[in-house]
Amino acid sequence: MQNSFELEHRLGYRVLRWILAVALISGVIVSSVQVILDAARVSDLLDAQASQTMELVEDASTQAVFSIDSDLAQQVVDGLFAQEAIHLARITHPDGEPLGERNRPLQTMSFRPLTDAIFDADRHYTRELTRESDPESIYGYLELHYDTGPIAYTWLERATVTFASVIATAVILGMVLFVVFHLLLTRPLLRIVESVKQVDPDRPDDKLIDLPPGHKDDELGLWVNATNNLLVAIGDSQTRHREAEDRVNRLARYDQLTGLPSRDTFMELLQADIEECQKENTVLSLTCCGIDDFKSINEQCGFRTGDQILQTVADRLTHNLTGTRYTFGRLGSDQFVIVEKGLRDGFQAADTGDRILNCLSKPMVFEDQTISMTVTLGIALFPGDAEKADRLLQSAEQTMALAKEDGHNYFQFFVASVDQEIRERKQLEKDLSIALEKDEFHLVYQPQINLATHRVIGAEALIRWEHPERGLVPPDDFIPAAEMNGRIVEIGQWVLDQACEQASKWASGGMPLRIAINLSAVQLRQETIVDDILNTLHRHNIPAGRLELEVTETSFMTNLEEAVDKLKRLHSAGISIAVDDFGTGYSSLTYLKRMPVQHLKIDKQFIRDLLVNEEDTRIANTIIDLGKSLNLTVVAEGVETAEQEYYLAQRGCQLAQGYFFSKPLKSQDFEKFVETFHSKITEQSHGL
Ligand code: C2E
Ligand code: CA
Ligand code: CA
Repeated sequence: MQNSFELEHRLGYRVLRWILAVALISGVIVSSVQVILDAARVSDLLDAQASQTMELVEDASTQAVFSIDSDLAQQVVDGLFAQEAIHLARITHPDGEPLGERNRPLQTMSFRPLTDAIFDADRHYTRELTRESDPESIYGYLELHYDTGPIAYTWLERATVTFASVIATAVILGMVLFVVFHLLLTRPLLRIVESVKQVDPDRPDDKLIDLPPGHKDDELGLWVNATNNLLVAIGDSQTRHREAEDRVNRLARYDQLTGLPSRDTFMELLQADIEECQKENTVLSLTCCGIDDFKSINEQCGFRTGDQILQTVADRLTHNLTGTRYTFGRLGSDQFVIVEKGLRDGFQAADTGDRILNCLSKPMVFEDQTISMTVTLGIALFPGDAEKADRLLQSAEQTMALAKEDGHNYFQFFVASVDQEIRERKQLEKDLSIALEKDEFHLVYQPQINLATHRVIGAEALIRWEHPERGLVPPDDFIPAAEMNGRIVEIGQWVLDQACEQASKWASGGMPLRIAINLSAVQLRQETIVDDILNTLHRHNIPAGRLELEVTETSFMTNLEEAVDKLKRLHSAGISIAVDDFGTGYSSLTYLKRMPVQHLKIDKQFIRDLLVNEEDTRIANTIIDLGKSLNLTVVAEGVETAEQEYYLAQRGCQLAQGYFFSKPLKSQDFEKFVETFHSKITEQSHGL
C-alpha cells in the first residue's frame, strides 16, 4: 500500500519548513545587524578618509588662500580628484568667493535610492584654513563633497553575500535535516504504520508489528515492543473472553450433566433435520424417551446415582445410535429425545425404538450398586403426524405420557392406526424369523399350460405361510418384509430345496415337469447365489434344464453388470430365466437384449382386463410380438376366462397359467390335476 497522505502533512516536510523559517528569520536578523553595523563602519570610514584627505592638503590650501594663488588652489583641487569618491572640491576665501574649484556629477547607480537613504547622496566636509602662528584668523575654507555611491556599492556587495550565505546555510541545513529525519523517523514510522494496518483486530496477537531494521534499541524499537506486548495482552484477553463466551454458550445450549443439546438447541437442530427430510422427501421420526419411575429410583438410590443414570442413558444412546442420521437432546429431568432422519417409513423408526429399549434395559453397574431400569418411548413421524417442529415434539411428548399410563418398556406411535400397523408388522417380522424353524411354510404349485398342445409343461412354485394364529398369510404380505430384513435369503433357499425335491419326486413318478421358482432381488445380490443354486440342483439330482428362475426387472437394475454375470452363469449351466411381471417395471429393450432371458411373463394385471381395456390389450399384444421377434417364450399369467385363453392362444402366446386352469395347488392336488387335465384333453381329442 502506498502512503497516500499528502506531502505537506509529512513530518519531514514540516520539520523542513520550520527549520527553513527559523534559520531564515534568525539569519536575516543576525545579518541585518551585521549589515547595519557595517554601514555605520562604512560611514565612519568615509569621515575618517575625508578628514585624512583634508589634513593632507590643508597646508597647500592655506598657502594658496594666504598668497591668493589660484593656480595652486586649482592644483590642489585637481589633485584631490584623483580620489574617485570626491565629486566636488573647492577652496574659497572667507567670504565664500572660490579660489579654486572642480566638480563632477554623482555617479548613477541603480541601488542609489536605497543607499542614499542610508548614507545620503553626498557628504560634505568643510575645514577652516588657518596658520599655526595665528590660529584665530581664518584665511579661507576647504570644502570637500564625497559621492557615497562607490563606498555604498562595496557595502551592498558585502551585505548581499552576507544574506545569500545566511539563506544558503538555512536551505542546506533544512535539506540535510529533512533527509536525516526521513531516514531516521518518517520511513520507519511509515513501515510501522503498514505493519499496524495488517494487524487483525479479531486476533491481534496473530501477526505482530514488524520492527524496522536498525531500530531495535531506540525509541521506535521501544514503541514497537511496547505495542506488541499490548497486542499480545489484548489477544490473550480476547481469547479468554471468547472461551468464557463459549462456555456460557455451551452451558446455555447444552445440558451440563449429559452434554446433550438442551431444548432450544435441540429445536434448532430438529428444524434443520425437518428441512432436510422435506427436501429429500424422506420420513423423520422424533422419539421421546422417558425413564420409567425415575422419581422413585432417585429417591431410593440418591441423586448422585440418579445423575449417573442420566449420564449412562445419554452415553448408551449416543454409542448405540451412531452416525449423522441421529440427533439427540435432553429436554427434562428424565426425558430424552432422539431424531432419526432419512427414513423410508415408520417401520424403521420402530426398529430404532427396539434398539433404544434394548440398549437401555441392560443393567447399569455403578461402584456400589447395580440398577435395572426401563424406558417408555413416544414416537411421532414427520410429515405424517405434524409438519412443524414444535407440533411434532408435542405429539411425541404426549404419546410418551399416554404410553406410560398403559405400561412400561415399550414404544407407542402417535397415530393409533400407524401404531397398530407397525406393531402388527413388528410381530409379523418376529414370527417370520421363527417360521422356518417352526416349519410353518409350504409350497403350492400352479400349472403352466402350453396353449397349443394343452399340456401341463411345468409349475410355478409359490410359497405359503400357515401362521399359527393368523392362518394363511399371503406372500405379498410377508415377502417384502423378509426382503427388507434379509430373511428372504434363507427362505428362498428353503423354497429352492423344496421345489427341487418335489421336481425330483415327480420325475421319478414319471412326471418330468419344469419347475419355476421366484428369485428375489435380494437373493440375486448374494455372492454365493449361483453356487447355492447349482449345488441344490446337484444335491437333488435334477437336470438344470428343469429349473426356471423368475426374476423381476427391478432386481437386475441395481447392479446390472453383476446381475448379468450371475444370470449368464446360471443360464450357461442350463437353467432358464424368465422375466416376471414384465411390463410393470422399466421394460427396457436394452436390458432385455443384454440379459440371458428365455421367457417373458405378462403380468396378471394386463391379462385381467384383456379384451375389456384397450390399453391392456395393446400391452399384452406388444409383449407377445416382442417375444416373437426376440425369440422368447411368452407366458401369460392370471388367465381366468376362456375368452382370455382363446385370445392369447390365437394371438400367439405360447404358455399360460391362471385360475382358469387351476389355482396354485398342494403337491398331491397338483398331481391329480395334471392327471385329470391330460385325460380330459385326451377325451376331448378322442371325442373329436
Ligand atoms: P407372482 O410371481 O407374480 O406370482 C403370481 C401370483 O398370482 C401368485 O400370487 C398367484 O397365486 C397369483 N395368481 C395366479 N393365477 C392367478 C389368477 O388367475 N388370478 C389372480 N388374481 N391371481 C393369480 P401369490 O402366490 O400370492 O404370490 C404373490 C407374489 O409373491 C408372487 O407374485 C411373487 O412375487 C411372490 N412370491 C410367491 N412365492 C414366492 C417365493 O417362493 N419366493 C419369492 N421370492 N417370492 C414369492
Ligand atoms: Ca412369479
Ligand atoms: Ca406376476
